[in-house]
Amino acid sequence: MKKVYFDSAATSQLRNEVIHTMTNVLKTEYGNPSSTHTYGRSSKSLLENCRKEIAKLFNVQASEIIFTSGGTEADNLAIQSCVRNLGVQTIITSKLEHHAVLHTVESLQKKEGVEVLYVNHKEDSSIDIDYFETLLKKCKNKTLVSLMHVNNEIGTLLPIEKIASISKENGALLHSDMVQSIGHFKTDFGKVPIDFAAASAHKFHGPKGVGFAFVRKNSGLKPLIVGGGQERGLRAGTEAVYAIAGMTEALKIAYQNLDDEKQYIASLKEYFKTELTKSINNVTFNGLSGDSEQSTYSILSVNLPIPEDKAQLLVFQLDLKGIACSQGSACQSGSDEGSHVLKQILSPYKLKNPSIRFSFSCFNTKPEIDYVIKTLKEFVEN
Ligand code: PMP
Repeated sequence: MKKVYFDSAATSQLRNEVIHTMTNVLKTEYGNPSSTHTYGRSSKSLLENCRKEIAKLFNVQASEIIFTSGGTEADNLAIQSCVRNLGVQTIITSKLEHHAVLHTVESLQKKEGVEVLYVNHKEDSSIDIDYFETLLKKCKNKTLVSLMHVNNEIGTLLPIEKIASISKENGALLHSDMVQSIGHFKTDFGKVPIDFAAASAHKFHGPKGVGFAFVRKNSGLKPLIVGGGQERGLRAGTEAVYAIAGMTEALKIAYQNLDDEKQYIASLKEYFKTELTKSINNVTFNGLSGDSEQSTYSILSVNLPIPEDKAQLLVFQLDLKGIACSQGSACQSGSDEGSHVLKQILSPYKLKNPSIRFSFSCFNTKPEIDYVIKTLKEFVEN
């Protein structure tokens, strides 16, 4: 059976170089970076080199990179500590955020009584920046803005530089979930005044269970996970040295190849869009996912004109044909609650249709797209 992996926004295939790096580190660097003997010092030096290399990519200091278990922890570290330790009483965020942010904010609202305000999105999923500014200007308390750079379901690209300057002009702290952005877009934290950001290695062809938080110097943040004094006192526990080495390798390659891969992946997405529109009548693209300027180049969320009761079947059928993609609307997700993002942006009529997210990577090809479109067409017509 053919195997087609169009789910890179969920997690991505590891690069061979990353596997090679991790294997070497697993074999040779088994000292605990906290130990003072030769083995420990060697692991520590590897870790600190990784930190320096990552910091260089974003034009920040090595001490501003904190290794974590992934994006979720990096989001939690910043948001929770802002409320618990930095006196933040109001959070401005969006209903289109990932649950790593949304549920964190909701729990702080419940447990700590923090005020939560949501920005408005236009019908196409773009942010209403004027409303955001008005909302922020009205905030009297110390405020944290938490807005993602790239939306994981519909790919919408937020104007993070603008959001950062508005946040700073109004004295707010800014956190950005950059899990779908880091490794795909390059943000210069030396220039863009973001205070905290979250990254996850498995979104850029690195290993799972590792990521990092960018935490601006002298932020005053306190650890979420307490214990030893690792990660500059901001995150306790022995670091996953091999995974951090793999993540660093993955990130370096991602940025070395950025322009070429961006162009290649964008051409795949464009081809998919064009061919799908030609093959199936009344297909639409959710949010701004079909727009090449205002969305990322790798995510396309498709709304298919088929009856609601066929939705679940479609996803099974695609899986049976070896096609991996993500389902994205309430009607398709069986027992779970469905996509909170699509519920926010789609009309009730469209929400009934199955929405599927296809996300592409440098490992995909046009013949794979042809195969998926042929399979979708057969399904829709039968
Ligand atoms: N934020 C976004 C936008 C994501 O797409 C994801 C992963 N689906 C996360 C946070 C969580 O990252 P991790 O899996 O590394 O915890």
